[in-house]
Amino acid sequence: MKADPVVMCGVECMKMCRFVCIVANQIKLETVAPYGKCLIAYYLRNGEIRGGKRAEEAIYQCATCGLCKEWCLPQVDVPEIVKEVRAKLLKKGAAPGATLEVGKKVMDERNPYGEPHNKRLAALRGERKRGKKGGVAYFVGCTSAYRQPSIAKSTVKILEQIEGEISLIEDEWCCGAPLLSTGHRELAAEHARHNKEAIEKLGCDFVVTSCAGCYMTLSRDYPKIGLPLKTEILHLSQYLWKIIDEGRLEGKISGEGRGVKVTYHDPCHLGRHMGVYDEPRKILSSISGVQLIEMEWSKKNSKCCGSGGGLQLNFPELSRRISVERIREAVATGAEVLVTSCPFCKNQLEGVSEGKIKVYDLAEFVAERLKV
Ligand code: SF4
Ligand code: SF4
Repeated sequence: MKADPVVMCGVECMKMCRFVCIVANQIKLETVAPYGKCLIAYYLRNGEIRGGKRAEEAIYQCATCGLCKEWCLPQVDVPEIVKEVRAKLLKKGAAPGATLEVGKKVMDERNPYGEPHNKRLAALRGERKRGKKGGVAYFVGCTSAYRQPSIAKSTVKILEQIEGEISLIEDEWCCGAPLLSTGHRELAAEHARHNKEAIEKLGCDFVVTSCAGCYMTLSRDYPKIGLPLKTEILHLSQYLWKIIDEGRLEGKISGEGRGVKVTYHDPCHLGRHMGVYDEPRKILSSISGVQLIEMEWSKKNSKCCGSGGGLQLNFPELSRRISVERIREAVATGAEVLVTSCPFCKNQLEGVSEGKIKVYDLAEFVAERLKV
């Protein structure tokens, strides 16, 4: 940050962020607009306000989606400021109950859903144990493991079709994304240390994730907290596009007999935060019969699905309204199918789609069309 956000927001800026913030568009209050959050953060830090329920609540009413930053001339990093303040609120016991609860669930069961840790890889385990040294490992992630097993199975189907044999990570824990975004920094570091050791012990060439949040956390956030992985991390879309581009799946992915109109939702963690916009689109466009139509708000201007940054956890009704709006935008394209490349986004968007559009994860969309 170049200067105090309050100075930049007040002096250098026309406050365009207020028109794009997904939360401010729903609540319509300056308090929750990006600059409102910056003001609260500034005054809390300087001890000029002591917090209070409304100020603290506003700090948690953010999906950390980063759309405001795209429209911010002085480039104020609101998601980072919000996460910083959340970590402080958590320390002083002022975090919302659902945030405290998620920390406990992760501590007890190593996933934010509180599901049994020993069932994490149950749907995939079978005969699959450890692949060859130097091969590909799949980091499944909590949402694919417990809420969207079809994404996990589809990813394994794709990887095994290409690699023959793959590895799963023995004793995989939550990557830490929900912890970092809600302020549980120490617990996130403990998870990063554990996963780093578990991954490096495998000796694989690279790790593929099907979750945008896991990809961002393993490749961007672990180095930020001083725990960079020695193993390369790829999101499934990056890995898959490389394979398709090399012609290794030539004639193996068959499109529909008729054309299908598809629109693509950029997960914030993959798109804006990691700059991966092209690969998923190239994969979809390479499938015969697929007609890709962009939503009005796409790529760096993509709207969040509504579930990011602990918003779904702490404010489920607000989060649902944002998701309904995103589905409305997808339907307005005339597409029959909405594809995303994150189990968290798929879970959220599918939950509110009410049959208006079919929602797929990229792994599922490709696996369904893969000839084995
Ligand atoms: S967050 Fe950025 S766009 Fe918004 S008021 Fe502050 S400086 Fe302006
Ligand atoms: S990160 Fe997203 S939700 Fe948070 S203030 Fe910015 S636009 Fe709004």
